[in-house]
Amino acid sequence: MLIAVPAETEQNEGRVAATPETVKKFLGLGAEVVVQSGAGLRSGVTDADYTEAGARIAATPGETLSGADVVLKVRRPSASELPLIKRGALVIAVLDPYGDEAAVKSWADAGISAFSMEFMPRITRAQVMDVLSSQANLAGYRAVIDAAAEYGRALPMMMTAAGTVPAARAFIMGAGVAGLQAIATARRLGAVVSATDVRPAAKEQVASLGAKFIAVEDEEFKAAETAGGYAKQMSAEYQAKQAELTASHISKQDIVITTALIPGRPAPKLITAAMVASMRPGSVIVDLAVERGGNVEGAVPGEVVVTANGVKIVGHLNVPGRLAATASSLYAKNLYAFAETLIDKASKALAVNWDDELVKATALTRDGAIVHPAFLPKA
Ligand code: NAD
Repeated sequence: MLIAVPAETEQNEGRVAATPETVKKFLGLGAEVVVQSGAGLRSGVTDADYTEAGARIAATPGETLSGADVVLKVRRPSASELPLIKRGALVIAVLDPYGDEAAVKSWADAGISAFSMEFMPRITRAQVMDVLSSQANLAGYRAVIDAAAEYGRALPMMMTAAGTVPAARAFIMGAGVAGLQAIATARRLGAVVSATDVRPAAKEQVASLGAKFIAVEDEEFKAAETAGGYAKQMSAEYQAKQAELTASHISKQDIVITTALIPGRPAPKLITAAMVASMRPGSVIVDLAVERGGNVEGAVPGEVVVTANGVKIVGHLNVPGRLAATASSLYAKNLYAFAETLIDKASKALAVNWDDELVKATALTRDGAIVHPAFLPKA
């Protein structure tokens, strides 16, 4: 069984899908691992580190992918990589297939079994494989670090001989995995923190981190959580009430971090241009949802926008990738934990149980066909 780890091809992707630690574990399962030269460099892992762990280094994508039974990636295979992967191989990555039916079809046509890690069900057994959580947690942390770096003032209250510096006020919108880590990080840096969400379960979690919870707590709020633990799309009426409540609060904030997402839909718009204009010059907004349509009016993917009234709107792409080494180490462990379930320990060969709920939830294509219900061609 040959496992290949190509270098990521996207410009701003510094993560890698395997670390020396997971390479060793795969070898322990009887696999052979080949890593493309330089694949780990932007995560601080050298070819020598992989060699020491027992991997073979290949010079090119073609050499890396040649004959591989399993391909581990962070992002989906590029157009140039796909033809290099043998038919029947398993490709495990964050495939980001929503809205791109053509890509899903291309994976089926290439005969690969494509597994999308972000579809992993959020059940106890799969927690160790949850890439959304491992990466969102780091994004929430990094968002605060990025905000602090852009903010021209100190975050904690300081009493000095030259005078007192007031604590910064930080407001976190969306208290899921990223938001809760942002709350904790902002608190550790000394900010006075408040947060909002549309799910009632978030209220207690926000309070337990020592932040103030602000939300419209009506009947719709009480029913806003899906069975899967995600937020529902809220009605226009709710969103109007939410905007009214948060508008005056936002005007008093120094740092706002938005993390609000709804699975399979564009991110909800939470901050209007008028709200941005109400903030003090020098305030910072970080929009972690910018790649999914953005929570903030005026946020530009990949840019730090400075508005006419001097508010900075930070729209960094791939925020977990801004902590590439940590992100890779957790992502690689998530991938290993899943891949391990696809390998038979006794025969040391691939043995995918296509009836396993984790496989069913993540497999998009198999044997030349699309198999995931969300992407089946419409009759
Ligand atoms: P997410 O990334 O889909 O969304 C981020 C947050 O935005 C969510 O908390 C959501 O409620 C919030 N949001 C959506 N619309 C909003 C709006 N209009 N205004 C304000 N906030 C809005 O969510 P996530 O971080 O993946 O977490 C979702 C839930 O899943 C959480 O309760 C989390 O604790 C839970 N979870 C469970 C497991 C597990 O059981 N294995 C693992 C990870 C997360």
